[in-house]
Amino acid sequence: MAGIHEGPEFGIGDFVLLRDVTLDGFMENLKLRFQKGKIYTYIGEVVVSVNPYRPIDIYNTSYVEQYRGREIYERPPHIFALADSAYKNMKRNSKDTCIVISGESGAGKTEASKIIMRYIAAVTNISGQKEVERVKDILIKSNVILETFGNAKTNRNDNSSRFGKYMDINFDFKGDPIGGHINNYLLEKSRVVYQQEGERTFHSFYQLLSGGSEKQLSDLKLSRDCSKYYFISQGGSSQVPTINDKREFKAVNDAMKGAGFSAEHISSLWKIVAAVIHLGDIKFEADPDQHEQVLISNQNNLNDIARLFSVDVDALQKALCFRTIAAGGQVVEKGLKQTEAHYARDAFAKATYDRMFSWIVGRINELIDPKISGLKYVGKNTVIGVLDIYGFEIFDNNSFEQFCINYCNEKLQQLFIELVLKQEQEEYMKEGIEWQHVDYFNNKVICDLVELQHKGILAILDEACLNVGKVTDVMFLQAMATKLNKHDRFTCRSLNAADKTLQHDRDFRIRHYAGDVSYSVIGFIDKNKDTLFQDFKRLLYNSKDELIKSMWPEGKQSVTETTRRPVTAGTNFKNSIIALVENLASKEPHYVRCIKPNELKSPSVFDDERVGHQVRYLGLIENVRVRRAGFAFRMHYDRFLRRYKCICKKTWPTFHGTDYDGTICIIKEKGFSDDVKYGRSKIFIRSPQTLFALEEARDSVI
Ligand code: ADP
Ligand code: MG
Repeated sequence: MAGIHEGPEFGIGDFVLLRDVTLDGFMENLKLRFQKGKIYTYIGEVVVSVNPYRPIDIYNTSYVEQYRGREIYERPPHIFALADSAYKNMKRNSKDTCIVISGESGAGKTEASKIIMRYIAAVTNISGQKEVERVKDILIKSNVILETFGNAKTNRNDNSSRFGKYMDINFDFKGDPIGGHINNYLLEKSRVVYQQEGERTFHSFYQLLSGGSEKQLSDLKLSRDCSKYYFISQGGSSQVPTINDKREFKAVNDAMKGAGFSAEHISSLWKIVAAVIHLGDIKFEADPDQHEQVLISNQNNLNDIARLFSVDVDALQKALCFRTIAAGGQVVEKGLKQTEAHYARDAFAKATYDRMFSWIVGRINELIDPKISGLKYVGKNTVIGVLDIYGFEIFDNNSFEQFCINYCNEKLQQLFIELVLKQEQEEYMKEGIEWQHVDYFNNKVICDLVELQHKGILAILDEACLNVGKVTDVMFLQAMATKLNKHDRFTCRSLNAADKTLQHDRDFRIRHYAGDVSYSVIGFIDKNKDTLFQDFKRLLYNSKDELIKSMWPEGKQSVTETTRRPVTAGTNFKNSIIALVENLASKEPHYVRCIKPNELKSPSVFDDERVGHQVRYLGLIENVRVRRAGFAFRMHYDRFLRRYKCICKKTWPTFHGTDYDGTICIIKEKGFSDDVKYGRSKIFIRSPQTLFALEEARDSVI
């Protein structure tokens, strides 16, 4: 622990060393450190990070050098130490490692992931191999690209990631990055067609309008004025003081080009963005001849979209106003009503953007695919995975998206608990020390409530969606009430009539590990079905633009071919999260727990209530308890002797026996024998008090 004490005025560098493990004690230390500009604190090997909301000069090369190759306790707490530990572990033990970054929106997850990547880039490829540099360069550039298309200004964060990201970096036997792979999770595509007051849609739209040249904009039939376009102006805040869209537009184009996107591809991507903007301004009116049917009233707009998508304008018009249905071998065209047409158009815009985003991720993956990058595998290749994924969300109005995100956090919390305990257990075994059972809350019941086959909420929802008849959100709620009435983590008004906070026929509540969340069922069925009429898929499959065509492979199906029902959005998400958790569980985990100090994006405000809430739901106190339950502290014999030899006459100034014997001497002389165990390579100290006493003894002699 040398180094983690930066002096008493900065509080304690590791929460494991807190005198009392209470929320108050935890908060006091966290606050003190935040106020002193110390944004990182450990819980054992977990890094707790508080967003400073101001640039701090602690990431420059001199810091890289201070942490490079050092043990985690040798220097004051820093995210570099964690990055280095993950890297060392991977390199020394040829073991896949992963870094899981969690926390709520605006807590600093994405910044943390970028800092980690920059650190890894800084300490690798000393020999300057060209291909490794290329891979590193794309890994860094991918952030710029994905942020343009996947981030947005929200009321919580001006640069909020609206997708989850897991990135593997592959290393060769020398420890140099030779490739990588990105998995993206659930892009919040509803933002394409709708934004709350004060928010924006994805950055890409504003960047194009601000940064595109006159010629480009005129080709895309766009003007610079965002307020003219419905899809991108609903939040009424297209200008954000902290964002320079014009500069970012140049940066993202340079990044795409530099990473290896072709000029044609880049041009097609901006065409898609432009077409989506225009789609928002398609207006439908009732067909005067066919009462129940719509017409498009602004033909110009339609021509522009058709040109941008490289499709036939009549085909586009037809897809927007009609739906083709094959019934009993016959093909019927059914006109859409106003609401249906709006719904279909929005679904089309969202799907188009979503496909584009996935294509971009796929393209980056091709460019950094370790198999096709010129670098040959020599020996074993290992991986560091970095997960930057949305944290727990509780809004005033929680819908399907929050439900998915919170489920994901339940899964990650479960993994966290299991792995932290497992790691402890493994270390004790390795060191030959008896394992002591630790009680902890296992949130498996909540995961089951959501994901269990047949009985879980997602299964009930899928059943409702598969029903051929008209099933409403309310019927889905009733089905849950019937099937889950015994579950103590689930409730709704019909199960608990006295609970006036839940609205009848609308709300259900889950008692998550992080707290209670009420969800409104409105929209669950639609969002889970995620219907996009086949007509649109066929339309874009027939695009003359190769890139657009390639995004819609299933459009090649003919109308009469029966299609299997697509997997629902909820089940799709569940499967991807289960795969993610399995993947993480197979690696050696490292954790960063990010905390947002206030809602004001202020560098000086520490909002006790908001922080307390996060500390509780991130399970940090529990984490400290687990870590301390058996032995609060452990240290290699050589380090222990080096640090404490000065407090014992027999070991000071030089000790001639082994590190192990020296350690025993010190402990015996100080009378701590009952409080420690001697492992194979480390001493384990049970109570923090012993450690404090050792530290105090040391302070008094040096
Ligand atoms: P999240 O990904 O958790 O939603 P971000 O990583 O986007 O949050 O952080 C939100 C904002 O907070 C950033 O845009 C930046 O202004 C600030 N921030 C976060 N971490 C740091 C840091 N380590 N140093 C300085 N500013 C930070
Ligand atoms: Mg983020």
